[in-house]
Amino acid sequence: MSAQIINGKSIAQGIKKDLKTIIEKLPLKPGLAVVLVGDNPASQVYVRMKKKACQEVGIESFSYYLDNTTTESDLLSLLSKLNKNKNIHGILVQLPLPKHINASNIIKAILPEKDVDGFHPLSPHIPCTPAGIIKLIKSTKVNIASKKAVVLGRSNIVGRPVANLLIKENATVTICHSYTRELQKETLQADILVSAVGRPKIITENMVKQGAIVIDVGTNRVDDRLVGDVDFDNVKNRAAYLTPVPGGVGPMTITMLLKNTIDSAANQYDFKYK
Ligand code: NAP
Repeated sequence: MSAQIINGKSIAQGIKKDLKTIIEKLPLKPGLAVVLVGDNPASQVYVRMKKKACQEVGIESFSYYLDNTTTESDLLSLLSKLNKNKNIHGILVQLPLPKHINASNIIKAILPEKDVDGFHPLSPHIPCTPAGIIKLIKSTKVNIASKKAVVLGRSNIVGRPVANLLIKENATVTICHSYTRELQKETLQADILVSAVGRPKIITENMVKQGAIVIDVGTNRVDDRLVGDVDFDNVKNRAAYLTPVPGGVGPMTITMLLKNTIDSAANQYDFKYK
């Protein structure tokens, strides 16, 4: 039997429709500052997609495109202005930053409540990609509690926070990384398998338990094509549910960014919509 493909694009569209309705009820237009340093082509694409999504739901986006020679202190002084600007409820600094800028210093300089990426240690927002992943898993209607989840990757942006969210949902969680021995032995245990490595076909059919939910976070360029971490064509014969790349986790990440920006704007005015 072939896996049911989890359509992240269509789930994201549904959420965006709801977000648009919420914005229409808000006493103010939410504002998102989008900061891009340098000319990384992938970052330029992501920023364009995020701005387009803002427009779709009615969030005003303010763009700050800075060149490669921008110093850390230039960027810090821009962030200080954005932190004080009442029309800006969310600040997004597109990563990766050029090597001469310390990303951790930059993230910590964003006011936690405006850190809509959820990267600041004190941010009240759930990081976007992990939040989107949980929504995709929940869309299957499979109960997460008591399931065995295996997460590949331990980054602060994806691996660790998604593992924490799965623990909150009462799954039993194992995190694997580049030092993990016998990866296949671990992945074969997974009722829920999340791969956030960034290596094409690291997950093959013989690593997946029959009937598992497989979430492919990886984004890799192969021959000018975007592919995930999962050997999709073969894994779909073993998994019960599988996310595609593109059209799986990616659209959910952007949608969760919009949601966090709206939450931030609503909180500023103590406006309750939930
Ligand atoms: P990262 O910081 O490079 O982390 C990769 C993780 O994979 C590390 O923890 C690394 O282990 C682990 N790893 C490497 N080789 C491994 C192996 N052979 N077996 C098991 N684990 C291994 O990357 P990231 O920022 O978390 O992103 C991961 C992937 O997700 C990338 O492809 C990225 O483009 C994609 N991504 C997609 C979205 C989206 O919205 N679709 C959002 C964010 C990221 P060590 O810690 O030991 O090095």
